[in-house]
Amino acid sequence: MTKQISPSAPAALPANGHGSGSVKTAPKVGFVSLGCPKALVDSERIISKLRAQGYAIAPDYAGADVVVVNTCGFLNSAKQESLDAIGEAMAANGRVIVTGCLGVEEGRIREAHPGVLAVTGPHQYEQVVKAVHDAVPPLHDPFVDLVPPEGLRLTPRHYAYLKISEGCNNRCSFCIIPSLRGDLASRPANQVMAEAEKLVKAGVKELLVISQDTSAYGLDIKYAESQWKGLPLKAKFLDLSRALGELGVWVRMHYVYPYPHVDDVIELMAEGKILPYLDIPFQHAAPNVLRAMKRPGAQGTTLERIKAWRAVCPDLAIRSTFIVGFPGESEDDFKHLLDWMGEARINRAGCFKYETVPGAAANELPGQVPEEVKEERWHRFMAAQQGISEEVLATRVGRTIPVLVDEVDEDGAVGRSQWDAPEIDGSVFVDGADGVKVGDIIQVKITAADEYDLWGEV
Ligand code: SF4
Repeated sequence: MTKQISPSAPAALPANGHGSGSVKTAPKVGFVSLGCPKALVDSERIISKLRAQGYAIAPDYAGADVVVVNTCGFLNSAKQESLDAIGEAMAANGRVIVTGCLGVEEGRIREAHPGVLAVTGPHQYEQVVKAVHDAVPPLHDPFVDLVPPEGLRLTPRHYAYLKISEGCNNRCSFCIIPSLRGDLASRPANQVMAEAEKLVKAGVKELLVISQDTSAYGLDIKYAESQWKGLPLKAKFLDLSRALGELGVWVRMHYVYPYPHVDDVIELMAEGKILPYLDIPFQHAAPNVLRAMKRPGAQGTTLERIKAWRAVCPDLAIRSTFIVGFPGESEDDFKHLLDWMGEARINRAGCFKYETVPGAAANELPGQVPEEVKEERWHRFMAAQQGISEEVLATRVGRTIPVLVDEVDEDGAVGRSQWDAPEIDGSVFVDGADGVKVGDIIQVKITAADEYDLWGEV
């Protein structure tokens, strides 16, 4: 049954929400609902959400800015009826979003109607609403909307975290995140990109990509393609990195595991598309400790990989975290870790003394390390890391590098290089920063360095 839902709301809303002042025209959505009562309830939910966001429902195709067709895919005849309804909407309006049960057969829909704007499956309310936003942005009314278009953020205006997935498919023995947050659940690539674009429009100069396992992005949704700016975009680490790199801001990758496909992303760093920075939580280097930790990403071969990455992108900075005193860690294992650090030249490293976490599998492992041994290893680790960091930073002296300004005061500016993430890495202290504002990217000649920070002048 084809059902066209008629309007129950005015097509124009007062712009200030108080019934006076100038009137902006509300964007109008046409809606065609096919199939069973469950599909009808889905349609009602989508319409309710759109109405709450200020959209009007158009009574006919001609008056609609975009048409949503909620399809049925139960029987072949229902599928055909859905395809016909899409065709009718395409012919009458031309801007069509498809959702509902037939949405799982995206290839079939696109074969019959290549021009549809987006295809989503049943119960994907958020994705449909998002597709409508992409096609016809909602009106933003500062008097009524409590939230700005880019959302509310706790970070300064010039940088923002961009979460691309939730949960994790790994089962590291010291970690309980999968039991708290579940398995990997990736966001569609076009949703991530739309959020990133909004942030950039709102003044963000640096996007910090985060998740539990960034390089596994899209695995759970089989690297599904979604439409971004009229082109298909895969939910894949490389594809997303490339698309983010087109936004013209700094893009920094956090929580990456060294899966083989990470190699391809290094090329984007060498080309300057995304920052030459990888945050890889290695946690250890000794093979038997890594095995006991159940760490992902074949870390036994990472030294060669790191060397190969640096051959492609000599400026690559690697930040990492490590755990000392993990159950079963011997003095030899610990020395292996220190030797590995020296060879890998890890630019920035945090170190934690192993602690039991209620519910973690590692609690039951034999060979718990005494607290005083953990303490002593932690100090040795930090001293070794400081030495490496000091040597690496000394090589920056004399270079002129871009610096993103985080703070300005009477003494000058404090910012960060491309090799430093906010809060966790070092700073660049800049003299002669007259007229410089927070969020500016300035060229700074580096004149001095210590084990954490750099100093320079504009
Ligand atoms: S440590 Fe990271 S990769 Fe390992 S299970 Fe926890 S969240 Fe996943």
